[in-house]
Amino acid sequence: MAREGHKYIFVLGGVMSGVGKGVVASSIGLLLEQKGFPVNLVKVDPYLNVDAGTMNPTEHGETFVLKSGLETDQDMGNYERFLGRDLTDDDYMTSGMVYQTVIARERGLGYGGKCVEAIPHVRDEILSRIEKAAAYNGSRVSVIEIGGTIGDFQNALFIDAARVLKMRYPDDVLFVMVSYLPTPGTLGEMKTKPTQTAVRDLNSYGVQPDFLVARSKESIDEKRKEKLSIACNVRRDHIIAAPDINSIYEAPLNFEKDKFGEALADVLKLSGKKKASLAAWSRFVKAATNKKSPEVHIAVIGKYFDTGNFVLSDAYLSVIEALKFSAAKLGRRPVLTWINSKGFEKGEPIAKLKKFDGIVVPGGFGESGIEGIIKAIKFARENKIPYLGLCYGMQLMVIEYARNVVGLKNAHTTEIQKNSEDPVVDVMLEQKKHLADNKYGGTMRLGSYPAYLKKGTVARAAYKKELIDERHRHRYEINPSYVKKLEEAGLVFSGTSPDGVLMEIAELPKKTHPFMLATQFHPELQARPLTPHPLFTEFLRAALACKKKK
Ligand code: GLN
Repeated sequence: MAREGHKYIFVLGGVMSGVGKGVVASSIGLLLEQKGFPVNLVKVDPYLNVDAGTMNPTEHGETFVLKSGLETDQDMGNYERFLGRDLTDDDYMTSGMVYQTVIARERGLGYGGKCVEAIPHVRDEILSRIEKAAAYNGSRVSVIEIGGTIGDFQNALFIDAARVLKMRYPDDVLFVMVSYLPTPGTLGEMKTKPTQTAVRDLNSYGVQPDFLVARSKESIDEKRKEKLSIACNVRRDHIIAAPDINSIYEAPLNFEKDKFGEALADVLKLSGKKKASLAAWSRFVKAATNKKSPEVHIAVIGKYFDTGNFVLSDAYLSVIEALKFSAAKLGRRPVLTWINSKGFEKGEPIAKLKKFDGIVVPGGFGESGIEGIIKAIKFARENKIPYLGLCYGMQLMVIEYARNVVGLKNAHTTEIQKNSEDPVVDVMLEQKKHLADNKYGGTMRLGSYPAYLKKGTVARAAYKKELIDERHRHRYEINPSYVKKLEEAGLVFSGTSPDGVLMEIAELPKKTHPFMLATQFHPELQARPLTPHPLFTEFLRAALACKKKK
């Protein structure tokens, strides 16, 4: 049962996917919190995967790992970045999770012999998950984003659950529809019809939107607001302009100008501060969007870019954001170049990396593009170009070092070469069984683990503390039996698990390289606009110092 007076805002998408529902939901969350109403943000993903961990990043984008280890959708990353805090397992649900619970309950006679149906049983499970998330410490408003587009078959049960909640608590539930208004090039005029149709679709579920967020190239004008208002039964001042912006972090500031937060609070009868306190946020946005800031050129070398004829960087979203936050802190503008490592295997000259101020190798899985990445790492090491490796980026850095400095020519990871002669990266003991049993979902080393940092290292100087907590997502690790050899050859393992067994950070000392550091964990998952990650900041600082020298 809902707590007395708790409020719910559902964010739904009309016309097409990719219109920025996640940014709208995050912005609403930020605005309400800054007005003094604590929120909880929930993402609903209608797919049948139980979590986002088993999906190919070129299809689905990045998998965002929560502190708990739950593998979720990239929108959860946006929520954490906008709210500036960690989310919990209750804040995420997929159809897969919901059905899994219902089916397990049925198998345990939990429905007492009843015929178990999508309605009401699956819908009830959705409602009880929404209620559980709403119980978050002090939350007064739940902001729930329903994935997909209105009219999809897959999200209909979630919309129906929202309808039932509205029926039960008419004054406490509202709907925000984020819709797209195209301006076809041949017409040169913004069209409202697709949105009108989407609203009618939503009406057929028994749901009326209270607000329309009009996503479009240019701001929606008054004439079209009027038209939509009459056609869709939405108050004119509840049609919120959301033109294309340079940075998603501008969205809450634009919404605040349009008094969106105030209007939401009014409809829900939430009395509190009229204005949101966005001073720190504004300072960050100003720094992040300052076109006059000097540039810093970073190559991101990965393998998940190619999808059909398009190049997508979604697979590395948190890495990109982490670079932006640290660059903004340093008053610099990051210019990122996506480099597909497969090119270096096909003879593309590696020397093209020379022009970059820094190189990042993010996480990844499997064989493709690996030798290209190792070439690039060698180049970064030998040419003293600042290097930051993340997860696979650390494993491959250690393989490169083992091959070319220690002299173990056949060093490899058993992820690629099962019977490697020198398995410097090897599957973790507890992972062996999962792989043998074909248990891939949710079985990696996932979520937050502590690590100790050695005195006098680059990592320790960056973090300025001895004990850290970082999020992980991997099955392989640096093989402990090679650690001594690698260290004797000059590699420093500056961060280890508290028992000293797992190598969490590898680096080269400052005297041999300006910045060559890599982590077994994913620091990018904890980088936030107002609290950039120290490793990204130090990496960029080193990149800037090298740029100066050039
Ligand atoms: N494939 C490697 C592993 O499983 C690295 C994973 C990653 O980069 N997230 O250990």
